[in-house]
Amino acid sequence: MNARILDGAAVAAAIRERVAGQVHELAARGVSPRLEVILVGDDPASRVYVAAKGKACLQVGIRSGTHNLPAGAGGDELAALIAALNADPDVDGILLQMPLPKPLDGRAFLDLIDPARDVDGFHPTNVGLLHQGRPAFVPCTPAGIVELLDRSGVALTGARAVVLGRSEIVGKPMAALLLARHATVTMCHSRTADLAAVCREADVLVAAAGKPALVTVAHVKPGAAVIDVGVNRVDDAALVARLYPGDAERQGQLAKRGYTLVGDVDFTAVAAVAGAITPVPGGVGPLTIAGLLQNTVTAARRRRGL
Ligand code: NAD
Repeated sequence: MNARILDGAAVAAAIRERVAGQVHELAARGVSPRLEVILVGDDPASRVYVAAKGKACLQVGIRSGTHNLPAGAGGDELAALIAALNADPDVDGILLQMPLPKPLDGRAFLDLIDPARDVDGFHPTNVGLLHQGRPAFVPCTPAGIVELLDRSGVALTGARAVVLGRSEIVGKPMAALLLARHATVTMCHSRTADLAAVCREADVLVAAAGKPALVTVAHVKPGAAVIDVGVNRVDDAALVARLYPGDAERQGQLAKRGYTLVGDVDFTAVAAVAGAITPVPGGVGPLTIAGLLQNTVTAARRRRGL
């Protein structure tokens, strides 16, 4: 392997420590940040994410609560809950866990959250502010990635950056942040022609497509920094053996859990040509919750003009 491993877990720990310090400072002013999470339905993955968010809040001294609505909850009930949280002056951050069970339209309910407490950064007001380069709540995953790149000494000014994926939660805000940092940004998606050739232009390649090992050596310029956002459950033993030859730990996970987590990048092959790379797991994943904690404390400060 040539590539330097970018340690997202270490950067996430540093962000959490900074947030804990900010919580301490706020406590001295009589302010105790509070996050409220809304979970609709009983999707097992969403439950795990929500529990992890609550635990992370506790660890840095942020108060948090969860509002669990049943899968069959009506839109009126959800809208009323968001309105009640918006009206509660003690609430600093409101997070609506996605996806919502059908037929609820996530977009319509995200739009109801007070932009000043929109700690996921998905409200159109915050999206607009981000694209104008003004202070905003920035979606947690791309915000964490910029901090990882900065702390890892990856230069962005003048760099060619390619973002693979154009979702509202990762691809689009990622591109906006890289642009704000003076990178020359190209966005790719499922209809991009000759994807590998476009990606090969990148000094910084961010892969967020949700397709296991989509990015191969053919997509990577030697020496590039490769950020792998993808989290894909793979249960195909032959594929795992090809992607991680001789990796007994991966095979063990497969046997024990029935799957292993694979990113959007063919890690073993790409690490031989890239200059720096994030692993999956342990790369981008831990940064997302760290970003949420930071946004919650930022909301608590801004709402009080601090
Ligand atoms: P999404 O499904 O909303 O968007 C995927 C994007 O990738 C789309 O814009 C699509 O056009 C593009 N795409 C799909 N297949 C492609 C292909 N073959 N070639 C080119 N482009 C292609 O996904 P998302 O919500 O942005 O998530 C992407 C991945 O990142 C998922 O694996 C998700 O689990 C993961 N994720 C991880 C974190 C984290 O904290 N680590 C956070 C958010 C998302």
